[in-house]
Amino acid sequence: MSSPLVVLGATGSVGRQTLEVARHLELEVTCIGARMPSPQLRELALAHPEATIAVAGGSASERKEFAAALSGRRVEFGSALLAELAASPDHTVMNAVVGLAGLPFTLAALAAGNRLALANKESLVAAGPLVQKALADGGGELIPVDSEHSAVLQCLMGEERSGFVRLLLTASGGPFRGWSREEMEKVTPDQALKHPNWVMGRRITIDSATMVNKALEVIEAHFLFGFAFDQIEVVVHPQSVVHSMVEFADGSTKAHLGYPDMRIPIEFALTYPARGPRLVNGFRWPGQTLTFEEADFDSFPALELGFAAGRQGGSAPAVFNAADEVAVEAFLQGRLGFNGITRVISDAMETVPLSTPSNLNEVIEVDREARAAAASLIAGAC
Ligand code: MG
Repeated sequence: MSSPLVVLGATGSVGRQTLEVARHLELEVTCIGARMPSPQLRELALAHPEATIAVAGGSASERKEFAAALSGRRVEFGSALLAELAASPDHTVMNAVVGLAGLPFTLAALAAGNRLALANKESLVAAGPLVQKALADGGGELIPVDSEHSAVLQCLMGEERSGFVRLLLTASGGPFRGWSREEMEKVTPDQALKHPNWVMGRRITIDSATMVNKALEVIEAHFLFGFAFDQIEVVVHPQSVVHSMVEFADGSTKAHLGYPDMRIPIEFALTYPARGPRLVNGFRWPGQTLTFEEADFDSFPALELGFAAGRQGGSAPAVFNAADEVAVEAFLQGRLGFNGITRVISDAMETVPLSTPSNLNEVIEVDREARAAAASLIAGAC
């Protein structure tokens, strides 16, 4: 029997799908949290009359209006309160918050010994060692929700660590697979927002087009599973059916396959190590062709930068992540070209001095510094 569920970042793509999976599994949802007091959140609140509603932000008047529309319900405000709810004893916490704002909830859930279903990339990328420490100290569980990492977890189940040789993270290659860097120079936000296989939020869709997303996943995989960066490879697999693979000492490779549908890894994070009832059809094999290609490090230099940030360690992955977020926003607003995203990341990594953040505040400080550096690089480039 799974524990009751706290869903943070509930109005986003993964948050909404989590609530759908929770209904399917007949899980009790005790708390629904989101960044802003939006009409979408009100809708979710009405669909879950038993849940506490927690809102991190919003102005005083927005909050008042939101609470009034849900009169009679428990509605709480403030980011600190979301962290408290993430620490509710004996809960599973889905952290589907976007951005570094999700890190305090990750740390709080793990420190309380909860199961954390982690869909917030920034937690592990920006603060991998802090997350590992909270996990070890709190005695909770960290179950990845990202399809690739869920796949790796499933490949590693029942295996001994000494037998792990190589981790092969698959990547669809995004909408510009096969393009040269020159051809990508004039790419528009509309072109970059069209992902061939997955429907996702805006930043992650752009990150898939630049392959920054895969670079972030390499860093996450390192912290989640303890593979050295030399043991991690990116393989381009345009059909997004093989979600990742692990090679073992005897030459065997295990792969995890299925349709690209986030409800599968979301459900697994909630039912692990058991399997829940299906929401998605099994893969239909006849007539399918699965292909694999080498990753193109020339057209997608973000991949190499991600490996470099991971190997440098310390603050480098946090800088990589923060600079990308600022650059993606500038690209979407038409203030930066597509290839400029990777240039800004590279320049920010050279500008911001390397440090070793040892607590949440120091990570937030690195993030702020990297954002400022990226913003001034973008302003200077125009
Ligand atoms: Mg992924």
